[in-house]
Amino acid sequence: MCSFHTPVMQREVVESLHLQPGGIYVDGTVGGGGHALEILRGTSPDGLLIGIDVDDDALRESEKRLKPFGSRKIIIKGNFADIDTILDKLNIKEVDGILLDLGVSSHQLKTADRGFSFSLNAALDMRMDRSHGLSAYDIINTFPEKELAKIIKDYGEEIMAERIVKTISDRRKVTPIKTTADLACIIARAVPSRFKSKRIHPATKTFQAIRIYVNSELLNLHKAIDRGVDVLKKSGRFSIISFHSLEDRIIKNCFRSWEKGCICPPDIPICTCHRNAKLNVLTKKPVTPSDSEIESNPRARSAKLRTAERI
Ligand code: SAH
Repeated sequence: MCSFHTPVMQREVVESLHLQPGGIYVDGTVGGGGHALEILRGTSPDGLLIGIDVDDDALRESEKRLKPFGSRKIIIKGNFADIDTILDKLNIKEVDGILLDLGVSSHQLKTADRGFSFSLNAALDMRMDRSHGLSAYDIINTFPEKELAKIIKDYGEEIMAERIVKTISDRRKVTPIKTTADLACIIARAVPSRFKSKRIHPATKTFQAIRIYVNSELLNLHKAIDRGVDVLKKSGRFSIISFHSLEDRIIKNCFRSWEKGCICPPDIPICTCHRNAKLNVLTKKPVTPSDSEIESNPRARSAKLRTAERI
């Protein structure tokens, strides 16, 4: 167990990447370096690991943890959506494998001042990269009602979105909504008791939605797959772990579309998109954690791993 973040499905991830000594692997979400460590071990004695993260705490932690591997690892601040330009700057044309372990780390969730968690009171922030961009505060307090409702509906799959936004709007007319506890409390008031689940807090879906929007999570995922496919060597592996259905759907559909190649509408007689098939999907169904892993690490509960191979 690592106090920064316990990696999920370590063994499954390592198997899926088909690690080769001397290979070059990208961990696009290096976090606390847990998966990266196993990749470095599995590619001994001379494999290279490029670890990317947007979060400064993650970069510091993984740098420290992976120090014993010396020049076999390169840790870089960046967005995995820019995987192609990041590799280009390093003069690396192709890699043997790419891993993305999506979402937030336990460290980010546990660190109150990041504003990710409704159970820890803090300023509303939720940015993984705190050096720029709109924060949750800006979105909650300044976005037009319609836009806010759409975000909560689309990214949180929250059926109470309109009601929640009406309550947010009434409150922000009087005074700005500054903290995670404020927002969680407003949402709890907006949702009628008969719609409240016994298992999850009524603010769960709204917090998820705002976090996805603040960090452009779904758009980044799309870009990372499309660009990642082009930097993979033949037979190189692309493995992605997701934690909710919106992400899993994107991975499934993007992988499938690269398996198929052409994306022209069926009624067009000849192909005009000129897209060639580039992937072979290896996981027809996603791989999920064992019961014992879920028991020891409840965060693993919703994890799904999909893998594709470059053709
Ligand atoms: N596999 C890691 C944990 C990853 S947690 C481990 O074993 O420790 C997810 C990490 O992804 C977080 O540190 C988060 O900051 C990072 N992240 C999320 N979106 C990102 C993006 N678009 N680009 C780079 N890093 C991202």
